[in-house]
Amino acid sequence: MTLSFKWIGILGGGQLGMMLVEEIHSFGAKAVVLDPDKDAPCSRVADEFITASFDDFDALEALCKKSDVVTYEFENVKADYLVDLDARYNIKQGIRPLFDSQDRLREKENANAHGLCTARFVSCTTKTDLDRAVEELGYPCIYKTRTLGYDGHGQVLIKSEQDLAKVEPYFGTPGVVEEFIDFDCEVSVIAVRSKDATITFPISRNIHRNGILDLSIVPSGLEESLEAEIKAATVRFMERAGYLGILCIEYFVKGSSFYFNEMAPRPHNSGHYTIEGCSTNQYRELTRFLLGLPLEEPKLLSPCVMKNLLGKDLWMVPKYEEVVEKKRLQEGQSAYIHLYGKKEPRPLRKMGHVTLTNMTEDQFVQFVKTELESR
Ligand code: AMP
Repeated sequence: MTLSFKWIGILGGGQLGMMLVEEIHSFGAKAVVLDPDKDAPCSRVADEFITASFDDFDALEALCKKSDVVTYEFENVKADYLVDLDARYNIKQGIRPLFDSQDRLREKENANAHGLCTARFVSCTTKTDLDRAVEELGYPCIYKTRTLGYDGHGQVLIKSEQDLAKVEPYFGTPGVVEEFIDFDCEVSVIAVRSKDATITFPISRNIHRNGILDLSIVPSGLEESLEAEIKAATVRFMERAGYLGILCIEYFVKGSSFYFNEMAPRPHNSGHYTIEGCSTNQYRELTRFLLGLPLEEPKLLSPCVMKNLLGKDLWMVPKYEEVVEKKRLQEGQSAYIHLYGKKEPRPLRKMGHVTLTNMTEDQFVQFVKTELESR
């Protein structure tokens, strides 16, 4: 056994990193993590924690030097820093997927170039661009900043001419305007690709609240044939783009069509359910990839609902705890509560999540109505 004491470096120390470190430890490896926040979730579990800004090149290099292999859970590390580090250290996923995901325009062009359909889009930096975009795409459409947007930040829904003024503050900033897709649902697929194999996790249907993921529901409820098509397109995309490691793609689904919305080359919030819901989880398979071990194809163990605990949703935790025992005994349902150890429950901040296993969406709705709200 040569696994022990390999060091895995992680750029970013949030909850995704924290759950990854737990899996890294289960393989007897160690984790060194860099994050600007000394109290970030990983600070409690990492074997070594570097408190430094993502702009601190020397600190990034110190992490790489310490590591046998490096990965990332934060997407916005400067591209030129990454190029330099990638040339000298083992950033096993490479930097291409990260680079491609850092800019919405590049991301969409890249998706189209490698066989995935997107909503139609037009690059937009000026008033003239915006007018042209609206003429081409019609109403409604959506303006998004090209970089640093997440969870609905830096976006304007343009329903009519009256909304155009809301884009004005962004003029001068590179942006993109997209056709509005009146989708039936949003889903995501997580895939892990090594040089020998590609595995995909069961597709989750995602419901957002205030632009942030609220629920992931598995099975997604899509036709099996459509699920198979979405998975196959995702795998083909990774192969054509030459990506290795983990990738999550979020799609809009309308009828039998699916549109790439965005991607993240890291573990994803919509894959938290895999920890208890699948025979292997996204963090474990990423660890296997990083350590050069064979990947395992995941199987869904039961229907699941993952609920994000945002900000003051923390009040629900004791109620879940109270209810779980009863459900476990009576109906074989369980709730697995994960708290990230963040001190301040700021509004909409991701504080933790709960995965309910052996539970369908309808049962979850009923559960919230009768067990949570009535107490
Ligand atoms: P994003 O940051 O791109 O994931 O957008 C946040 C949320 O806005 C998505 O999860 C969708 O619910 C919605 N949205 C974004 N782009 C579109 C679009 N082109 N058509 C319809 N809804 C969209």
